[in-house]
Amino acid sequence: MLPTPCYLIDKSRLLPNMEKIAWLREQSGAKSLLALKCFATWSVFDFMSQYMDGTTSSSLYEVKLGREKFPGETHAYSVAYADDEIDEVLASSDKIIFNTIGQLTRFDAQSKNHTRGLRVNPGVSTSDFDLADPARPFSRLGEHNPEDIAKVMDQISGFMFHNNCENADFDRFDAMLGHIEQRFGFLIRDMKWISLGGGIHFTGEGYPLQKLADRLKRFSDENQVQVYLEPGEAAITKSATLEVSVLDTLHNGKNLAIVDSSIEAHMLDLLIYRQQAKVEPNEGDHEWMICGKSCLAGDIFGEFRFDKPLKAGDRLSIQDAAGYTMVKKNWFNGVKMPAIAVRELDGSVKVERSFGYDEFVAALS
Ligand SMILES: *Cc1c(COP(=O)(O)O)cnc(C)c1O
Repeated sequence: MLPTPCYLIDKSRLLPNMEKIAWLREQSGAKSLLALKCFATWSVFDFMSQYMDGTTSSSLYEVKLGREKFPGETHAYSVAYADDEIDEVLASSDKIIFNTIGQLTRFDAQSKNHTRGLRVNPGVSTSDFDLADPARPFSRLGEHNPEDIAKVMDQISGFMFHNNCENADFDRFDAMLGHIEQRFGFLIRDMKWISLGGGIHFTGEGYPLQKLADRLKRFSDENQVQVYLEPGEAAITKSATLEVSVLDTLHNGKNLAIVDSSIEAHMLDLLIYRQQAKVEPNEGDHEWMICGKSCLAGDIFGEFRFDKPLKAGDRLSIQDAAGYTMVKKNWFNGVKMPAIAVRELDGSVKVERSFGYDEFVAALS
């Protein structure tokens, strides 16, 4: 039996996402690069690389990981590179995308023989959270003024736009892209490649993939550019669970179950965005609040329904534990860090990595 807590990546649930990504490239010509900031669990990179074209990154360490572990193209991007990082970033990447003209200028000499691009901020986005909105007021994410960008066109061959966020609405994506074409079209036509970033939820159930493929192909044909997408969440959505065990139960107005995990330590994004975790099937006569074992009072996964009362020793699966989850795990409260396991297509499960006291000690000094 699997140890708990444990993140369990299921390749048979990853596969449908991968197949949609590969289909989209076939139909539209758009290449997909995995955004490592969302998911960097490299034990499944060989599998994913059969369907995706490579990786994109947000730092020196991510770009190195992409180059080392994920066959294919390796794009480098960072909000800002430091002087002592840039040579290694260039050595580890096929393309570098600078966040500002300032960085492009600062590293012009070192990067002269590299394929270079610039992040452009179209000033509109689909994010409902200010915290995650690249187009928020005073945003530092990319250049926004077409006249400024026009002055550095001879130094770059591509742009990156990233302004979608869990956008499951094709019409909204279409309108965003129309806005980008209207404002930056005259610059785009001089480029060789355009990355449209991540945040398009095209692997979701019912997404009109054919429409997306047609739209991307039209964009690519009209502007004579290679299109890239940078899916993070869309690539790994619903492919992993966090396996936990109930340690204790009590009653305080509601039925409470304490599990051997912590939302703050192991699924931090839910806490940041104030969302409840998912447990399936979430049916039955017994309602229980699932609580973490850290001493943070609000360390709560959510309230779920079960067909019988929970008791110590019961095991639960928290759904959708891949994206922005494993990359954010931490040692808060010294809670045991979840192991990482992979379920192969043939159903066999292998624990790829466990974390113990030594890793806890090694994380600080
Ligand atoms: C976060 C990010 C992505 C991935 O976004 P998802 O919403 O996970 O698809 C892609 N590109 C850039 C530049 C990003 O910042």
